[in-house]
Amino acid sequence: MATWFISDLHLEPARPDSMQTLLAFLTYIEGRVDALYILGDFFEYWIGDDVLDTPAGAALKPIVQALRALRESGVPLYFLHGNRDFLIGETFAQRSGCELLPEQQVIDLYGTPTLIMHGDSLCTDDVAYQQARQLFRDPAWQAEVMQLSIPDRLERAQAMRLESQASNQAKDEQIMDVNAQAVAGVMRAHSVRHLIHGHTHRPAVHQFELDGQPAQRVVLGDWYQQGSFVRVDQQGLELLDDFR
Ligand code: MN
Repeated sequence: MATWFISDLHLEPARPDSMQTLLAFLTYIEGRVDALYILGDFFEYWIGDDVLDTPAGAALKPIVQALRALRESGVPLYFLHGNRDFLIGETFAQRSGCELLPEQQVIDLYGTPTLIMHGDSLCTDDVAYQQARQLFRDPAWQAEVMQLSIPDRLERAQAMRLESQASNQAKDEQIMDVNAQAVAGVMRAHSVRHLIHGHTHRPAVHQFELDGQPAQRVVLGDWYQQGSFVRVDQQGLELLDDFR
């Protein structure tokens, strides 16, 4: 039995391969998983849970159903928002059987207190992004977006993706990685020495020193070329690009 973590799948109907990988993964872990944590950017974009009841949402139904089946088999599922799917709400949570977690959550991982988060808030050198993030996370702004029609929201989401692609291409690689002080700060704030996050698409297990103590930061990769998984059990942690 193990606890599994995934993030940055960036699922969308246009890339059925990663949807198939996810379905195979969910089938594989059933019966051998203590809990599954989704650490954000599960979807490439999410314009509101109401899409699930429209033709545009039909392609995503198998995923919601597979999550639900896993939940009904007794596996707790947890979902934490990324910067692409921050509009995931209670309807999605109920239908998929996922429990929505706050931005930062400390969990007990076989006796090791571990902080989990998406990771975008740690990229503090990217000032322009942090400003945009404040807006996206503002409930008033979100409510305003949800007033728009689905086609209007879709159009806006596509414009935002193009805009972010263009601005990220112009940015230095370093700026888009986490800031070491931000990492130390959030770990101190939660009194932990273990952190698991995604977002940067730079899968790695970083060992470092925090206030004279050994510390660990595990980064999940994206699913564009292959999968990325963190598997933890009593024996320890593994970062994998295949679940089998
Ligand atoms: Mn992200």
